Amino acid sequence: MKNWSDSRAGERAGRRVGFPRFKSRRRSTPSVRFTTGAIRVEPDRKHVVLPRLGRLKTHESTRKLARRVEVGTARILSASVRRDGGRWHVAFCVEIDRAERCPARPQAVVGVDVGITHLAVLSTGEMLPNPRHLDEAAQRMRRLARQMSRRVGPDRRTGQRPSKRWERARRHVARAHARVANLRRDGLHKLTTRLARKYGTIVVEDLNVAGMLRNRRLARHIADAGFGEIRRQVKYKAEWNGGRRILADRWYPSSKTCSGCGAVKAKLPLRVRTYTCTCCGLVLDRDLNAARNLAAIAREASTAGSGPVAGRGADRKTRPGGPVAVKRQPGTAQAGKTGTVPPQGGTYQPGAR
Ligand SMILES: [Zn+2]
Repeated sequence: MKNWSDSRAGERAGRRVGFPRFKSRRRSTPSVRFTTGAIRVEPDRKHVVLPRLGRLKTHESTRKLARRVEVGTARILSASVRRDGGRWHVAFCVEIDRAERCPARPQAVVGVDVGITHLAVLSTGEMLPNPRHLDEAAQRMRRLARQMSRRVGPDRRTGQRPSKRWERARRHVARAHARVANLRRDGLHKLTTRLARKYGTIVVEDLNVAGMLRNRRLARHIADAGFGEIRRQVKYKAEWNGGRRILADRWYPSSKTCSGCGAVKAKLPLRVRTYTCTCCGLVLDRDLNAARNLAAIAREASTAGSGPVAGRGADRKTRPGGPVAVKRQPGTAQAGKTGTVPPQGGTYQPGAR
């Protein structure tokens, strides 16, 4: 209700939010959240106790949580149970005492350029391949979906009940989708954990993922890569590990800028995979060039003024004239331009993302 009224009053960013609808038992994911009653993980690390449901065996070990509860560094606040891909999961909301941690290289800066050709290109030169889990599973999914369409499904108009074979085919489709989601999640978590444990400063782009998903040709690949999720995970994991994440401004031309001399190209089509600078003759992989520019932002942010770092809530509106490559480049902040602080007079606030 609040989202709806705020959206109507123009106090909420993002798309218009409609009036809430009632939830249908037929359409929504079966889930329940327990906040009171007996909620605990058993000391045998194989069972959980939930109100009304009692003692349930878990498939995976609860060791990590059970240990923390036993030594008193975690307190369970609530438990959510939901079904996903034909399996039941329980998630505990926990109040936790996190140990002070420090990244392996606190002074190190890494720029991360996410993309489709490579899932991520680091400014260190490391290129992580895009696993393309969805493309990998596409053939199998197509077959399963076809199988399901041949079975007798439900029809509310004629009162037709779904056949057992349709139900079974539907389970197979759901499993296939869940598997893709699991593989994707696993890969992203491993990547972001590695980054947060190693580097003190991580620079990522503030990509307009929602807008990019409106591109019909790229949407599937962008959603499969998980651009937005990388950004989200890097943020909280950097905080957990004692590092920081810097968000590059949405209009900062990371791909069009030369990481060698700072010249900015007016145009650089997506098909051009190699960056060739007309000023200094630098020849570099397109994504690596962008990653290096992102890393350079961190260096500028810690020495000079605000620089091309996105401020809080600063990315709602397109600038008049749109995303033209007239923006400042690392090291050459022009005085007099709006939004730019000259390097000498600027004050850097460490708390500002
Ligand atoms: Zn150059």
